[in-house]
Amino acid sequence: MKSFWRIFLVLSIVVLMFSMSFGATYDRSKTLVAGGGLWNTPTNWNPFTPWNATTGTVGLVYETLFTYDPLTDNLRPWLAEKGEWVSDSEYLITLRKGITWVDGNTFDANDVYFTFDISRKYELSYSNIWNYISDVQIVSKYEVKIIFKESRYHEWSYFLYQQPIMPHHVWENMSQSELLETANKYPMGTGMYKYESVGADRMVWVRNDNWWGNSLFGKPGPERIVYMQISGNNVALGMLMKGELDVSNFFIPGVPKIKSFYGLETYYKDAPYMLPENVAILFMDDNKEPMNDSNFRRAVAFAIDTKMIADKVYESQVQPAGPTGLIPIDSWKSYVDTKTETDYGFSFNPAKAKQILAENGYKDINKDGFVETPEGKTISLELIVPNGWTDWMEAAKIMATGLRNVGINVTAKFPDYSVFLSLRQKGGFDMLIDNASSSVSRTPWTYWNWVASNRIYTDEITAGNWGRYENKDLFQKIVDFNFAKDGSAESKKIAAEIEKTLLEDMPSVPLWYNGMWFQASTAYWTNYPTEENPVGYPSTWGGKWQIGGLDMLINLKPVK
Ligand code: MG
Repeated sequence: MKSFWRIFLVLSIVVLMFSMSFGATYDRSKTLVAGGGLWNTPTNWNPFTPWNATTGTVGLVYETLFTYDPLTDNLRPWLAEKGEWVSDSEYLITLRKGITWVDGNTFDANDVYFTFDISRKYELSYSNIWNYISDVQIVSKYEVKIIFKESRYHEWSYFLYQQPIMPHHVWENMSQSELLETANKYPMGTGMYKYESVGADRMVWVRNDNWWGNSLFGKPGPERIVYMQISGNNVALGMLMKGELDVSNFFIPGVPKIKSFYGLETYYKDAPYMLPENVAILFMDDNKEPMNDSNFRRAVAFAIDTKMIADKVYESQVQPAGPTGLIPIDSWKSYVDTKTETDYGFSFNPAKAKQILAENGYKDINKDGFVETPEGKTISLELIVPNGWTDWMEAAKIMATGLRNVGINVTAKFPDYSVFLSLRQKGGFDMLIDNASSSVSRTPWTYWNWVASNRIYTDEITAGNWGRYENKDLFQKIVDFNFAKDGSAESKKIAAEIEKTLLEDMPSVPLWYNGMWFQASTAYWTNYPTEENPVGYPSTWGGKWQIGGLDMLINLKPVK
């Protein structure tokens, strides 16, 4: 109780300190103020460089053929009316009729053709689709057929809701450099919002009242979205408590204790409060002694108290990961083989960690409290996370303590983010925590293709598998899974084999599921997505609008 009042007092001071003036003159009953996905002044709206584009560019303005709801595992036709495999190597996309670009031009098969074809002509972020498709054909004004040379079912189902469709009449005469370098101010799409204005610390989107989806899905509640650049979670919390921020997608310590006092909503009323969004994973340099020994790596897995991290560092706002690392959403958990998990899984068990070490020759010969390698060499390892990532820094300290308690000499270190990135991509680290491309998706293939990526044979790697774990048999199985139809007996069999290899060989250790951080103020808006009212996915991050953020907007209702 004492600590509660201390937190309450500190937060009250935070509110006073951050009495930021919300200078806009918009009618708050019609305006949604959001934050958590904008870190700089908005300067880019180019859907060909989505990693630079202001959040909303893809989703609010440029739309995808399908959207995906991870809560119901629903791949929903959006710009498409339907999509189907008409043979093992042909996928037919039928488009909705009556969709127009904001400038009045008709949206049709030419736009879809252009979006595919331009990535064949130029080297673009999604040109790798041409590794597995061989052609795109216009069948009719509203039908496009994709011809596959390799039927990568899983990769394709992900692509369908990732790639926005671009208006060919705007982009078709641009050179590759023009196309990649334009800021594309005043982006022009088919979507439910349009560019209205931009300020040093905000992006203002205005509702497109002629949006084609109004009659099909419902009209979005907010007339405007004022998307704020907010410098940190303390500021976001102060704004939430004063009703100046409606939707926050920040991780905010303290929320579980104070949310009811300020009428703040989270997806779950009680722990874990947040939906799981991605997987924090311990990567080890799998080629460096002693981490090149799978027995040593398994001992590491048993020495980490992920429940303590979830409860203490995150105040139970996250959940410890299961042994397979697969987040328990339908699309992923349907591939978890429970027998494999039982037979080969791990959990926090220091005695077991010590036993594995002893059985495999790791003993403390020099009596300094830490084991040496079976050859008698000293072990001294560093676990790195970026400086300033306070939750991960605390987690890393707990992990290092757990490892030292079983006799593995590990120290937590906090290099600057740029140094961390360089070590992650070029190698030279011992252990690190990362979650870069482990987000919930339509298929666990995206997770395996990242955590055990086969793209490790270059000086600098960017596709995951930071420990450069090499297992060609496993790499082939992940490829085979991609080729197996979703839900087929074959796909489940391959999934179980992948899980068994990852658990037996333990190249990396799943730690906890980072949350889809979401706190909402009920001062102006209501009917947010919650467990009792699952009307969307509560995210405004770039790349998440089309996985349920749009549904949140459609379902929001003004309080007054
Ligand atoms: Mg020793």
